[in-house]
Amino acid sequence: MKIIDLHCDTIGRLLETQEGLFQNQGHFDLQRAQKAGLVLQFFSLFLYPDEHSQALKGILQQIDRFYEEIEQQSESVYPLLFIKDYQPDEHRLAALLHLEGAECLGTEIEYLRIMYRLGLRSVGLTWNDRNLLADGVKEGPNDGGLSQAGCRMVREMRKMGMLLDLSHIAPHGFYQAIDEYEGPVLVTHANARSLCDHPRNLDDNQLKKLAESGGVIGLNQVSGFVSTDKNPILEDFVNHIVYVSKLIGVEHVALGSDFDGADQVVLPGVDAYLQLENMLGQKGFSRQEMEMIFHSNVERVIRQILK
Ligand SMILES: [Zn+2]
Repeated sequence: MKIIDLHCDTIGRLLETQEGLFQNQGHFDLQRAQKAGLVLQFFSLFLYPDEHSQALKGILQQIDRFYEEIEQQSESVYPLLFIKDYQPDEHRLAALLHLEGAECLGTEIEYLRIMYRLGLRSVGLTWNDRNLLADGVKEGPNDGGLSQAGCRMVREMRKMGMLLDLSHIAPHGFYQAIDEYEGPVLVTHANARSLCDHPRNLDDNQLKKLAESGGVIGLNQVSGFVSTDKNPILEDFVNHIVYVSKLIGVEHVALGSDFDGADQVVLPGVDAYLQLENMLGQKGFSRQEMEMIFHSNVERVIRQILK
């Protein structure tokens, strides 16, 4: 089955380990992605907060690594820049560049536009911390929402055809960003708070608001976001898929593994996606519903937003 995955941290890992995108020891490489049937992967650019004084430099280095890898492996991967270029093909992965935490933009719309020209097509305003655009989940439920610059940034993203990711943002900012964006949003990697009470997960009201926007949530495999009281197995992850599908409809459910973003994830790597397909079948999902979760829900959103 064709698969779209909304979040991996593989680019940062490659810079650390000096391994390559085609084959490596991490959770994700092109060789295994091909076997699993991946047609589109979001590649995250990310720096920890203590590296923010170097934010622009670090992010540019990651963008460079992204294109170096893609050019070397152009037979198996291409950058997804415009929707007309999207050809779901298990033998040639579409790679979409995503920014996780927009510290490198400061408050400058011009930087956002430059990043667009460098191929950036998806932005999450914050990681867990507060920045000049919005507050991350670390600020708790009394967060201050979006700054003026954050609002401007979100409106500009919509105009330019960039996807908005609301993983990691604190609750007030979550609602405000959806209202400012006026389009379907993504939560690329999070789960249901009703099943796992972690601040990174969405409560039922947030999930309903996401659905109202027409957007999708990529359900996340990081063990701590799947279950707080045990080392979760695949079935615990699938329970999130079942829960969110029942609450807001299967048309809003997708996959956002977080491969290479955490040590403890439910599946051992991208090639194990086949196990997920089998288990969803056992849980009673039809072929058509699985196709929605695995790829067509995300395709609906990217066709609406990307130029
Ligand atoms: Zn993340």
